Amino acid sequence: MSRSADVTVKSSELFERAQHAIPGGVNSPVRAFSAVGGDPRFIASATGCTLTDVDGNDYVDLVSSWGPMILGHAHPAVVEAVQRAAAGGLSFGAPTESEVELAEEIIDRVDPVARVRLVNSGTEATMSAIRLARGYTGRPKIIKFSGCYHGHVDALLADAGSGVATLGLPTSPGVTGAAAHDTLVLAYNDLKAVAKAFEEFGDQIAAVITEAAAGNMGAIAPVDGFNAGLRELTRRHGALLIIDEVMTGFRVSPAGWFGLEGVGADLYTFGKVMSGGLPAAAFGGRADVMERLAPTGPVYQAGTLSGNPVAVAAGLATLRTADAAVYSALDANADRLAGLLTDALRTAGVAHRVQKAGNLLSVFFTTDEAADTRIIDYAGVKATQTWRFAPFFHALLDAGVYPPPSAFEAWFVSAALDEDAFTRIADALPAAARAAA
Ligand code: PLP
Repeated sequence: MSRSADVTVKSSELFERAQHAIPGGVNSPVRAFSAVGGDPRFIASATGCTLTDVDGNDYVDLVSSWGPMILGHAHPAVVEAVQRAAAGGLSFGAPTESEVELAEEIIDRVDPVARVRLVNSGTEATMSAIRLARGYTGRPKIIKFSGCYHGHVDALLADAGSGVATLGLPTSPGVTGAAAHDTLVLAYNDLKAVAKAFEEFGDQIAAVITEAAAGNMGAIAPVDGFNAGLRELTRRHGALLIIDEVMTGFRVSPAGWFGLEGVGADLYTFGKVMSGGLPAAAFGGRADVMERLAPTGPVYQAGTLSGNPVAVAAGLATLRTADAAVYSALDANADRLAGLLTDALRTAGVAHRVQKAGNLLSVFFTTDEAADTRIIDYAGVKATQTWRFAPFFHALLDAGVYPPPSAFEAWFVSAALDEDAFTRIADALPAAARAAA
């Protein structure tokens, strides 16, 4: 791995040009570096754990396209599968064998899932799951948790994490009161609040939607019993539990968070890893619920490109290549990165918490007093010293390490991180830690 240019002239020129053609110069807000300042790097190519920008600078990638690239970039098995699928035709608007294989792969891994519908993005998956839950129960309200992000679905943008948190938006203009009216937003990890909401609105609540482990306000694992408690409360009140595994699915274990915790939901949403970096996602769950979808049932849901053969090929190749060694490497790499972060920040005397949820991780800058207390919700995240993150981020970036450009996002390792990458990270961290002091 080499650092060739150390200048970012072409990225800056492209960013300037992009802003005349694309709002903010980017097609997803967090890419604009709004929270950390400076110009985003325009990426020319990537292989393994290395991103190369248009100026020829290399970076150790700790974002992994926000999750999908567990095998690293341009993995030969995935590239070969994509090339083969593309050569056979890009889209047919008719069923294919490979979609069935991908659906079966998901069903085989996640026990409570009996039927799967493929869509094009995580947003579509959660939007469709919510519609289905309302259609199935005949009830209007949903519960979501503050700081959890489920894509840019109108009804789910209230107090959302990810880019919404990065930009400091409570919710988004354009989401009408009517669209958010039936959304109850509660604190993450607060089961008592959920019980109270069910006492008050029980017969109106169609579903609780939760991230399997929160990753969009930083990595915040559910406290013991939280997901199981949601399971119990939803069942008792005749509501559905929707567990959003778009981020955790097939990353934290071959069966996602379900594989670690075993709490069964009625519906799941998946994305990212299951499509290997191409645009596909899915929702799935109980047969009796899923069969309420058109054409077997009355709840409408559709998509011109859904089950796209090239995206499906990338997903299948990724899932099939990710063997036990890949999952061990992901866990080991996350542990090693967490250890390096902790050592460097401790040495520099910077109060912090490195928190993990499976192999997702985040660095929170705290006060000395708060450093030993686990952060369990969005209020806790917002109380951290997020202003320390920008200098920390830029020191890493300048040294050829690419962390997520926001204090509110999780860091995603890949199995492709190698000794050179860890050496570069270890070399970069002391100065970055001092910059955060
Ligand atoms: N759900 C979760 C948990 C996510 O992390 C995301 C995206 O980061 C989404 C849903 C939305 O997925 P997409 O960006 O593919 O629409």
